[in-house]
Amino acid sequence: MERFLDALSRGVFAVARCRSCSLIIWPPNPLCRRCLSSDVEWVEMNPRMDEIKGKAIAVADSHLRGARFALIELENGIRLLGRIIDEDDDGGSGGSDGSGAGVGSQVMMVGCGVDGGDDGSKPYYLFKSLSAYTSNT
Ligand SMILES: [Zn+2]
Repeated sequence: MERFLDALSRGVFAVARCRSCSLIIWPPNPLCRRCLSSDVEWVEMNPRMDEIKGKAIAVADSHLRGARFALIELENGIRLLGRIIDEDDDGGSGGSDGSGAGVGSQVMMVGCGVDGGDDGSKPYYLFKSLSAYTSNT
């Protein structure tokens, strides 16, 4: 778990994978929950951050500092609580508001890290909606 947070704090999203049965172990755990092997390796999901894509399966209504919380299911089945950043700049084509992410939106991870605090470190994951870009599935 420390290695997971350590990687996250460097902006690297790493997941544990069981060497015995190849199961992706999520949430991170030093023990495989399928075969109980402790032979677990850490796999970095990005150098290519834009390969980490998923789908919003639940989105919170409330906005917090320009981001919305959403439950994201990644393509490999990992579910995590992420923040979806509203796009107001970049992209250039404009008129992107109203296209905010909702349930079922395709999202792409654009960052991750660890929030330090007195109550401990909290991982966070930033996503942005792909709906504006993908016209077909
Ligand atoms: Zn296993």
